Amino acid sequence: MKTLKIAIQKSGRLNEKSVELLKNCGLNFENYKSSLISPVSNFPLEILFLRDDDIPEYVQDGIADLGIVGENVIEETEVDVAYLQRLGFGKCSLKIAVPNNNSIATLEDLNGKAIATTYPVILKKFLEEKGINSEIRTISGSVEISPGLGLSDAICDLVSTGGTLKSNGLKPFADVMSSEAILISNKGNENDDLIQELIQRIQSVLRAKETKYVVLNVLKENLAAVTALLPGVKSPSVVPLAEPEWVAVHTVIPERDFWDRISQLKQAGAQGIVVMPIEKIIL
Ligand code: ATP
Ligand code: ZN
Repeated sequence: MKTLKIAIQKSGRLNEKSVELLKNCGLNFENYKSSLISPVSNFPLEILFLRDDDIPEYVQDGIADLGIVGENVIEETEVDVAYLQRLGFGKCSLKIAVPNNNSIATLEDLNGKAIATTYPVILKKFLEEKGINSEIRTISGSVEISPGLGLSDAICDLVSTGGTLKSNGLKPFADVMSSEAILISNKGNENDDLIQELIQRIQSVLRAKETKYVVLNVLKENLAAVTALLPGVKSPSVVPLAEPEWVAVHTVIPERDFWDRISQLKQAGAQGIVVMPIEKIIL
């Protein structure tokens, strides 16, 4: 029987979430930091642990069937792969940042200026699109210290909270791209049965993550008002309680809707509200 290979980051910002996602899909494997390959015991799959920069090419060339990697790395390596699923973690943006006290006010002010980055391909495309002519200085790391050292006038780097920029006296100036972790496959293989099964499992885990199981108690006379606020997967279950005039309502709702509605639910008479995580939602 055929065995698929999926490449994930060996260590770094995407490693833990990638491993967690695969484990939540019910895949059983050892996560030894020292090994390059880990077989999955209950699915025909092997996990390859690689540097993130190598993942897009491994997938493009078919050495791995699938990969989990940041969109920024895919764009920078200019590979031709199929995007299967956005994964909702590793969110960040690639931004141009400038020193706090400088005269760069518009994109045009970047003409003739030096920008340090580890993303020369993406930055070049961005500047070309905007018609800006800057000098791109490709460096391999610690981009944020380069203006302070007089090596560049600006930087183009990944930002999530902005804390690193701030502590280096820089401020975000222009958004180049936003990124998150993506499941990719080599082109033409998207419809393979095993790949489809894995996508289904991943989607059921992602759906569950965004959704909560909510149980609450309400007086029967307030039931209609409360259920009107709760659009469930289908409709909420209503369960009798020992106190005859009370019922319990069980439902599944998107977490973002829940926080918006919690005060309305209380006002409508909901009590003893319990919110629980869901492991998987299979449609
Ligand atoms: P490797 O050793 O695998 O080459 P790396 O040092 O290149 O790792 P990490 O810093 O671990 O990479 O980042 C991996 C990915 O995490 C990035 O390519 C990006 O998609 C995502 N990411 C999310 N937030 C951030 C952030 N604040 N800074 C950098 N990357 C981030
Ligand atoms: Zn890397």
